[in-house]
Amino acid sequence: MQCPVCGGVMEAGKTSLTLERSMERIIVIKNVPALVCKQCGENFIDISVSKQVEKMVISAEKSGIKLGFLEFDQAA
Ligand SMILES: [Zn+2]
Repeated sequence: MQCPVCGGVMEAGKTSLTLERSMERIIVIKNVPALVCKQCGENFIDISVSKQVEKMVISAEKSGIKLGFLEFDQAA
């Protein structure tokens, strides 16, 4: 797939996502599978992966985490 930003080549890799849900709640998810542009570093995250990230954030919120670092977990 081509990078939507610069047209460069995208490769499978890992990224981390920072999700600011509110002023006082920030959750960082590490090792998220993504396509990364070799040229500009743009990330593209698959819809199924972003849904999984969303689930992880919701469960972190339910456990009352305000500042958290999580590893991406496909099975969560
Ligand atoms: Zn690019």
